[in-house]
Amino acid sequence: MNSIVMKFGGTSLEGATAFQNAARIVADRIARRPVVVVSAMAGFTDALLAGVREVATMDAVAGLALLDKHFDRHYRVIDVLLSKEAPRLRALVENSREEIVQLLNSAANINLEHRQRKALEDAVASNGERLSAELLGAVLTENGFSAQAVDARRCVITDSEFGCAAPLLAETFAASKSHLTLLLESSCVPVLGGFIGSTVLGETTTLGRGGSDYTAAIIGAALDSEEIQIWTDVPGVLTADPRIAPKARTVPRLSFAEASELAYFGARVLHPKTLHPAVERDIPVRICNSRAPEGRSTVVVGESETSPQTVKAIAHKTGVTTVQITSARMLGAYGFLRAIFEIFDKYRTAVDVVTTSEVSVSLSLDDTTALPQIVAELEKLGSVSIEEERAILCIVGEGLRSTPGIAARIFSTISDINVSLISQGASRINLTFAVEEARAREAVMRLHKEFFEKSAEEHTAIDEWGVSVPA
Ligand code: ASP
Ligand code: MG
Repeated sequence: MNSIVMKFGGTSLEGATAFQNAARIVADRIARRPVVVVSAMAGFTDALLAGVREVATMDAVAGLALLDKHFDRHYRVIDVLLSKEAPRLRALVENSREEIVQLLNSAANINLEHRQRKALEDAVASNGERLSAELLGAVLTENGFSAQAVDARRCVITDSEFGCAAPLLAETFAASKSHLTLLLESSCVPVLGGFIGSTVLGETTTLGRGGSDYTAAIIGAALDSEEIQIWTDVPGVLTADPRIAPKARTVPRLSFAEASELAYFGARVLHPKTLHPAVERDIPVRICNSRAPEGRSTVVVGESETSPQTVKAIAHKTGVTTVQITSARMLGAYGFLRAIFEIFDKYRTAVDVVTTSEVSVSLSLDDTTALPQIVAELEKLGSVSIEEERAILCIVGEGLRSTPGIAARIFSTISDINVSLISQGASRINLTFAVEEARAREAVMRLHKEFFEKSAEEHTAIDEWGVSVPA
């Protein structure tokens, strides 16, 4: 049966107006048989997790005090939007509060092991998504639509890695189909919380922070939906950061590979892990703007395509440190790279961009917590130099693969800015390099001008190749 998955993030559900808006967006697409996935109200997950931390250091009362204003936010949504459904929903919020009191009390003054703490965090945090699902379901019902909140823990079955559980796909697909298909067949909109799941034993788990997008992709894959829509508060993926390039505009269409390259540059693009279940089954993932539902969106599709506009987006990230290791011993030797990366591995530090020459290796990192120890060990392998306050720029587009002259155009546009660590990934759809952080804004601005603001034809071209994009 045809369906679409519509996922609403926390900022699209921050209060009564936002809930009403989300319900309207769903109602307008009711003919496509939506399955709705929701996040907790903005800020609630943070507060729930802080509540658990508070219990570790203080007591359950202090933990709860942090949460009351968030329960009040739920009560306000009920007061503003619900009448018939209001008593039932008030009772649900009160139950949730009770459940959390009990969970926190059971943990107060006990020294929990890491795993127990994670399990407790998951159980407490799950209340955010469960309440959101109940609320949105009730708002839809109250507006005359047939809708039903579904406990996502019955659909998403995971391993028992609390805090970042991995879904067991076969079990999840079977459970989701059995719980959701009947509702869809009877034209009822299922509304389920993202982010949460349960083990085969029924213990509550979560998929990791930001995991609601992942839930949406998994449910879409389970139901073989036509499309997975991620409703957020930005107009899709933009050609650059609009605070730097005010003329930045929505990229209508990205390939999975392009979206994955962009993912490193901020939460505004989906995590590749999120996209994977969808891409594998050829289900497009569309990033939509809940503040302008009929406005522009970005669709991410599996197949790669070249656009007339060879460059699709310019992303950047500041606060990057680069490390160079130089050693003549590297020449013709093997095992050298392994020795270097083992050091990063040992200190659990992720390396992002890597370039090598015969006698040197350069790499970039965000997290410099363990840098002093890392440098001390690297110095046993060769001479080490560090450059702080760098930025990484990444120019993405499938067309980079085959269009000559792009690199020349990029570097001549910023010829007076010193560039290092130039890398073009194996997929050859991106060109990534480091610049001094202080010059990053200017570089992005100039490149955006060069590739996106030059001629009117380019503007029409970018609109035309997003075939399935609403105007
Ligand atoms: N509410 C969860 C979080 O804040 C999951 C999500 O919103 O995707 O991480
Ligand atoms: Mg999110």
